[in-house]
Amino acid sequence: MSQGVNVSNIADKAWPNEGLEQLGHCPVCQAEQREMLFDNLFDNTFDCAPGRWTLWRCRACRSAYLDPRPTPETIKQAYESYYTHASAGQADQAQTSLIRRIRQRLLNGYSNVRYGTRLTPAYPLLGRLYGALFPRRRKACDSNFRFLPKGEPGRTLLDVGSGSGDFLALAATAGWQAMGVDFDPVAVEQARSHGFEVREGGIDAAEGMHAHFDAITMSHVIEHVHDPAHVLQTAFDLLKPGGTLFLETPNAESLGLELYGPSWRGLEAPRHLTLFTGPSMQALLERIGFAAVQPIYRREVSKSIFRISKEIAIKSGGNPPASTRLNWRERLFCYLPLLNPRRNEFITVMARKPGA
Ligand SMILES: [Zn+2]
Repeated sequence: MSQGVNVSNIADKAWPNEGLEQLGHCPVCQAEQREMLFDNLFDNTFDCAPGRWTLWRCRACRSAYLDPRPTPETIKQAYESYYTHASAGQADQAQTSLIRRIRQRLLNGYSNVRYGTRLTPAYPLLGRLYGALFPRRRKACDSNFRFLPKGEPGRTLLDVGSGSGDFLALAATAGWQAMGVDFDPVAVEQARSHGFEVREGGIDAAEGMHAHFDAITMSHVIEHVHDPAHVLQTAFDLLKPGGTLFLETPNAESLGLELYGPSWRGLEAPRHLTLFTGPSMQALLERIGFAAVQPIYRREVSKSIFRISKEIAIKSGGNPPASTRLNWRERLFCYLPLLNPRRNEFITVMARKPGA
């Protein structure tokens, strides 16, 4: 029971009243009609933010949102023991087996051809084949590079929520001139110490760089912001005509939400303020002016999101430790998005600013 007691401690501490704001409408489409999805949500992911929360589902666009929610001035309290600053270590290639080393050379070859990296050692010719023969491995590589177009020297990229700069470093290997913005001052310092230009704050910190970027990436950012439409509008403004926006966020219509309810990993109250659906994201991007809004289907994330959600469910119930292995029903659900990609765990989209 000790974990259960711990969890309720943080959840029973109230969020300060003056730190709450009422919305009364959907932050995506502004409609007021809604139904309650979950009451009494708490920070069952990182056990660090006080308060209990109500999540609503908009009857018009099916997005989900917290109301009331922490104000922009007080939201920092929800991140106090949240940030991680560890940088992913380089794998020691000398320690890996022969097959792994060959696989790595093939993957490097694919990455060099597809993304313009200059990774060595690599098999460039076989790399092309490799991508075609091993779609899952290729997709893992594509997902690391956020499905970006090929980087060429001088092409500019902005990573919103750049953390300690891991993605900036990866993008730089593909020739991108990469810059970041992030709210966490410690992460900003870390990324700067690796030589990257990073400004402290949200996307507004890139103010004045109108039509400067060839690409903007936002991985698991839009669900955290108070005014998603403003952030996407600003991204549109910062992109060059023809520029690309990559965006990924939890899906309010996911199968995981149906399976695990309040324990679903994507909820993360009160840090996740708005959860989109595929169509509500597409509609907002198109309203702003983005063209060629292209969903990317990532069925492969289901398994890990299901596992974490199951762990959260076990922990929140205060039950004795149980196996987090997926049962047959959960494993079956991992494959259902093949039939209906709208039920994926994440919404992943590429969008293009028209022109050029
Ligand atoms: Zn709505």
